[in-house]
Amino acid sequence: MHEMALMGEIVRLIEQDATKRNIDAVTKVELIVGALSNALPEALEMAFDAYKLQKDNRLTEDAQLIIHFERAKAFCPICEEEYEPQSRLVQCPSCMLPSGQIIAGETFRVLSYEGSSTS
Ligand SMILES: [Zn+2]
Repeated sequence: MHEMALMGEIVRLIEQDATKRNIDAVTKVELIVGALSNALPEALEMAFDAYKLQKDNRLTEDAQLIIHFERAKAFCPICEEEYEPQSRLVQCPSCMLPSGQIIAGETFRVLSYEGSSTS
């Protein structure tokens, strides 16, 4: 399950930033996950829950994970049409050519996080 590694990277980034901003307890994390990012939201949630149980980070026990799902979108320069590709192999449904350029759906990033300082 590579979501465990992805989430590990996110937790690490948040830890670094929280250290700088003097945040001791992280209570909420919001992510943007694209349909083509190869990360499954359910698996990310499971990974998040696993990291919450670990004591070597600032995630609180009841920290919330909010995932904003980004739909895949591609643009065909021949038809000048936007469509939703089913995979990274973008075949335009109008002209049937693999001419599409992916314009959305590959995002995988932290949108924001919240926390508090106890000191
Ligand atoms: Zn087309």
